[in-house]
Amino acid sequence: MSCCAPCSAGAIRQLKDGELQDIEDFIVLFYNPNIFPESEYQKRLEEQIKYCESLGVKYAIGQYNHKDWLDAVKGLEKEPERGARCAKCFAFRFAFAKKWAEQNGYDAIASVFGVSRHKDQNQVDKAAESILGQKYYIPVKWNEELRQKIGHQSDFYRQNYCGCEFSIRKV
Ligand code: SF4
Repeated sequence: MSCCAPCSAGAIRQLKDGELQDIEDFIVLFYNPNIFPESEYQKRLEEQIKYCESLGVKYAIGQYNHKDWLDAVKGLEKEPERGARCAKCFAFRFAFAKKWAEQNGYDAIASVFGVSRHKDQNQVDKAAESILGQKYYIPVKWNEELRQKIGHQSDFYRQNYCGCEFSIRKV
């Protein structure tokens, strides 16, 4: 599962290069109804598609159901980043991914939700395991050096907040 091109660039390259053993086939799933506003969602989606296509990697796009996402995090709007709202947000997206994977013949899920320095990898892993179970979830430690290297060589659109309206930083 990917949240954006800059976070997923290294992971996708590693998967494409066959660096992860036992993975025969993979697809990049972009399901991020948490992103607000929709124009920002479109920018991140377009960047993700551009990167996947440049590598010849398959991708799939989930629905942008932001209202459903808002319902899921209701009452947690004031939580800080890495707090309870984020745990709910991860769980919401993993729940979709599980259903999607079952319907489309994939039997394991990994994510790049924890690669940003603003994220808590343990929180992501916990949310994933609560929804997917240990059998379905692959907690990969992605190559950070590679991600940064690709980032420096690219002209990715880069956002300055995580995604939802509650994470927009006042500058
Ligand atoms: S800050 Fe990011 S991870 Fe947390 S709820 Fe908002 S979009 Fe989701």
